[in-house]
Amino acid sequence: MEDCLFCRIVKKEIPATVVYEDETVVAFEDINPVAPVHILIIPKKHISTFFALEPEDDAIISRLHRAAVQIAQEMGLKEKGFRLVANCQRGGGQLIFHLHYHLIAGRPLGWPPG
Ligand code: AMP
Ligand code: ZN
Repeated sequence: MEDCLFCRIVKKEIPATVVYEDETVVAFEDINPVAPVHILIIPKKHISTFFALEPEDDAIISRLHRAAVQIAQEMGLKEKGFRLVANCQRGGGQLIFHLHYHLIAGRPLGWPPG
């Protein structure tokens, strides 16, 4: 999608600090981190929200989760753990309408979240 910021990051039209990439997924550092580790994990395919998911996207969701695990392992988070968060729609805090997970770690994470 031409006017989507994250599609433009996928196409390398906008710079990002990419920490993981394969044929389906890109992960990069959040520009405004809320924790010492704050990575965004996105599908290369433009999917606006969870509500836009189609059955054919099942494999993409699985790949996003597996990428999160691989990144967490590479960052030494297996013992300490991490939080994987997805905001959905404006009421859920979503600002960028290209589906993404936030991988957050490196500080105590309270529950319930704000
Ligand atoms: P959300 O509120 O779940 O849609 O999260 C959007 C996230 O994208 C926020 O945490 C922003 O800090 C982050 N963000 C916005 N622009 C960029 C960018 N150019 N590069 C990296 N992260 C970004
Ligand atoms: Zn997009």
